[in-house]
Amino acid sequence: MDNAILAIVVPCYNEEEVLPQTNAQLTALLDGMIKDGLAGEGSYILYVNDGSRDHTWDLISGFAGGANRVRGLKLAGNVGHQNALMAGLETARQDADVTVSIDADLQDDINAIPEMMRKYHGGCDIVYGVRRKRDTDSFFKRTTAQAFYKFMNGMGVKSVYNHADFRLMSRRALDALCQYEERNLFLRGLVPLLGYKTDKVYYDRLERQAGVSKYPLSKMLSFAIDGVTSFSVKPLRMIFDLGVIFLLISLAILVYVIVSLAEGKGVQGWASLMLSIWFVGGCVLICLSIIAAYIGRIYTEDKHRPRYHIEQYLK
Ligand code: UDP
Ligand code: MG
Repeated sequence: MDNAILAIVVPCYNEEEVLPQTNAQLTALLDGMIKDGLAGEGSYILYVNDGSRDHTWDLISGFAGGANRVRGLKLAGNVGHQNALMAGLETARQDADVTVSIDADLQDDINAIPEMMRKYHGGCDIVYGVRRKRDTDSFFKRTTAQAFYKFMNGMGVKSVYNHADFRLMSRRALDALCQYEERNLFLRGLVPLLGYKTDKVYYDRLERQAGVSKYPLSKMLSFAIDGVTSFSVKPLRMIFDLGVIFLLISLAILVYVIVSLAEGKGVQGWASLMLSIWFVGGCVLICLSIIAAYIGRIYTEDKHRPRYHIEQYLK
C-alpha cells in the first residue's frame, strides 16, 4: 500500500488567473507527500481542460511533461464540471491506485489531502472533504448553497452535507462508479450509493484565490433540477398529492354551487370561475413541466451519448 500512486484530478474551465498558484501549491504538496511516504513515486496531478476559452490549456501544457509530476487532459469542448471531472477520473483510473478530485480555485484546503491519504492507507475507499464553515463565501453563495442541500435532501437525494466534489476515491470505488452509465451525472449523489468503507475529513472553506465563480445561479439551478430528477421520483408523487388536494377543493366548490343554486342566486360565480380556470391551468402546467423533466431525462439517457471527447493527453 505504501507506494500507492495518487492522482490529483483538477477540472479547469477558464482558470488562467488561478492556475499558476494552484499548480505551485499542489506540486509542493505532492512532493511533500511522496517524501513522507504518503503517496508513491509515480503520483501526479492531472489537469482537465474543460474547453476553456482563455489560456488555461497553454498553462497546463507548460506545466506538463519533463520532471514535473503534471499531466494535462484536453477535452474537445466544454462539457461541464461533472463530466470534466469524470473524464479525469476515468483517465486516472488507468494507472493510479487512488484519486483525489479538487476544484482549481483552491477554495478547498489542499492540506486536507494528506489526511485523506492517511485514511486511505487505513483502509478507506472513499473519503469526503467536508466544509466546516462557510464564512468566506458571499452571503448569496452561502444561502443558495445551503438551500440547495436542504432541497436535495427534502427531495430524497442522499448526499453528504457541505461536501462538494473534494473527495478521495480508491481504484476499487472508481471502478464501481464507472459502472454507472447515466449521462446526467451528479457525482455527489452517486458516490454515496457505492458503499465501501467511507470517512470524512473536515476543513475550512477558503476564499476563491483568483478569478470568478463558474457556477452562476442559473447553472446552480439546473444542477439542482438535474440532481433531483436523476435520483428521485418524489416529484412524481407530489403530482398525485396535488391531484388529491384539487379533488377536495373542487368537492367543496361543488357543495357551494349546490347551496347557492338552492338559494336562488345563480349568476354570480364569474369571479370564482375565472379564478379556478387560471389556478387549475397553472397547476396543470407545473405538473406537465415535472413530467417533461423526466421525459427529457429518458430522452438523454436513451441516446447513450459519450460524456466527453479527449483531444490530447499530455503525460
Ligand atoms: N468547471 C469546469 N467546467 C465548467 C464549470 C466549472 O470544469 O463548465 C470547474 C472550475 O474550473 C472549477 C470547478 O469546476 O475547478 C468548480 O467551479 P467553481 O469554483 O467556479 O464553482 P463554485 O466553487 O463557485 O461553486
Ligand atoms: Mg469554487
